[in-house]
Amino acid sequence: MVGVRPATHVPESDFETVGSTPRKKTISSPYLHRLQRRHFLLFDVLPIAGTAAALAFLTVHPIGVTELALLFSMWVVTGLGVTVGYHRLFTHRTFKAAPSVVAVLAVLGSMAGQGGVVSWVALHRRHHECSDREGDPHSPNLAGGGLKGRLRGLAHSHFLWMRRHEYPNVVHYAPDLIRNRALVRVARLYYYWVALGLALPALVGGLVYQSWAGAVSGLFWGGLVRMFVLEHIIWAINSFLHMFGTHPYESRENSRNGGIFALLTFGESWHNNHHAFPDSSSFGLSWYRLDPGYWLIKILALGGLAWDVKRPSEERMKASRISRNGKPAPSTTA
Ligand SMILES: [Zn+2]
Ligand SMILES: [Zn+2]
Repeated sequence: MVGVRPATHVPESDFETVGSTPRKKTISSPYLHRLQRRHFLLFDVLPIAGTAAALAFLTVHPIGVTELALLFSMWVVTGLGVTVGYHRLFTHRTFKAAPSVVAVLAVLGSMAGQGGVVSWVALHRRHHECSDREGDPHSPNLAGGGLKGRLRGLAHSHFLWMRRHEYPNVVHYAPDLIRNRALVRVARLYYYWVALGLALPALVGGLVYQSWAGAVSGLFWGGLVRMFVLEHIIWAINSFLHMFGTHPYESRENSRNGGIFALLTFGESWHNNHHAFPDSSSFGLSWYRLDPGYWLIKILALGGLAWDVKRPSEERMKASRISRNGKPAPSTTA
């Protein structure tokens, strides 16, 4: 998804002017749509089929501690790669990190199979720019009213939008990333990182069980099932948390918090907090709101591997807080 060819069709409504030259903010071409369809089938549909196959494979090879450990550890490291690396570091620049940390986070995020880092960042910055309005790649709120419209919106935002969508111009949306040669190199190798994320658990499974069945079981549980689980958790932020949940902070879109899912989402489910303060490395904003992604950033900072960790001031949070009657309540505590 990274090597972008010239567009053959560009919607005229979406230009920005740089000097006297109009620059396209999104690109749409048959070549890009072919890549999107391939990515959708390989990394979004295949994990569903793989999960079904993994369940069927249980009759041949029962699940053991090894599979559970592979599923859990690969889910945690790739999940943190997405939330801490892709999201909080590369998209929103909420902290700075040592080059080694930058590289590891980019690789772990890539292994999740949710797109190369440059494409992911460009798409997510577009989401923040157009949230729940025309141009948002995955809003659940633009498919009409009524139950049918809401269900159509949820299906689109959760999953179906990835089949075919306008591609945000990375020159416009991710100029900082494409200037970083090391990061572009990681992005170009995206398919290899995903393959590595599948090969590693297969290798461990094969070694532990000393059999091909063990390798297949490792591939299933540490690879495809893990991708399936993480993908649906991350996609639920795009779909359900732009429709259901609490809304403690003023923000112009329909983002919501789902605190009960905080641990499961590594802190991503504080989505209204995040839209209200996208420059904050903490999504929970308070110590008692669980935010494993922020815990990792704090640990990295303690070890001198991360710095300039940004958080909004108490005054800023108070100013954006909505009171129980729906009006801004600058005097309430955050
Ligand atoms: Zn964001
Ligand atoms: Zn959002």
